[in-house]
Amino acid sequence: MVPRVNKGECISCGVCVDTAPAVFRFDGENRAEVYDPNGADAAAIQEAIDLCPVTCIYWDE
Ligand code: SF4
Repeated sequence: MVPRVNKGECISCGVCVDTAPAVFRFDGENRAEVYDPNGADAAAIQEAIDLCPVTCIYWDE
């Protein structure tokens, strides 16, 4: 399972980037994206998922 961001829903709040900076970053349009799905353990990624205010991060196969 890998985390993914539904960029169309991202409001660029930065919570995921702050929570797991080795996994998430902003793209050129200031939307979050996953650049290293192995940059943090599942618990840290889950924390980012739980904290995202618009619930646009999810686990994918
Ligand atoms: S926490 Fe959610 S809304 Fe905020 S930057 Fe990350 S993906 Fe976007």
